[in-house]
Amino acid sequence: MKFERYGIGIAKGMAITFKHLFRPPITVQYPEEKLVVSRRIRGNELVWFPDRCTGCATCAKSCPQGNIEIATHVGSENNYVVDKFELDAGRCMFCGLCVESCPYEALAMGVSYEQAQYRRGDLVWSKEELQPLNKRPSGYARPEIEAALPKQSLLIYGDKERDEGGQKLRLIPLSKKRGRGV
Ligand code: SF4
Ligand code: SF4
Repeated sequence: MKFERYGIGIAKGMAITFKHLFRPPITVQYPEEKLVVSRRIRGNELVWFPDRCTGCATCAKSCPQGNIEIATHVGSENNYVVDKFELDAGRCMFCGLCVESCPYEALAMGVSYEQAQYRRGDLVWSKEELQPLNKRPSGYARPEIEAALPKQSLLIYGDKERDEGGQKLRLIPLSKKRGRGV
């Protein structure tokens, strides 16, 4: 056993540890501070575009959970008119299969991830609640939406203001965090 060999390893390890002592914490003060999520996030919601929907029910057939309920009647131009488009987010696993299967791009994933409710019934979204007026679509399987969304902010940018992510975050130094008892 040679002392020098092991001594160098310890010194290298300690140098890395020491370097990390002066780094700011890579956390944000959620919910006051929020990161910009990935443009292709499969968030905790779905967005339905009624003007594009033909009522074909391909999305409902492709859902492994049987989660989408659609009711239609035949309109004056021999088309389907959607009477009911309902989605139970309580059973949804946000796999995105319904979005991928829609032939008319009438369905998209949403960017939100804060949809907690006290009652399961409140997780059932009607066609009015699914419309883009109330929700923000994500770029998942929708490249034209993705191009218009802000870039994701990544914490590996460090503690400086990040122009890259289009979001400015103020990270609280470790000493102040300790002072606040966090
Ligand atoms: S959302 Fe798409 S797949 Fe579903 S019924 Fe409408 S057009 Fe068809
Ligand atoms: S995201 Fe998946 S589980 Fe949810 S409604 Fe669409 S296909 Fe069904």
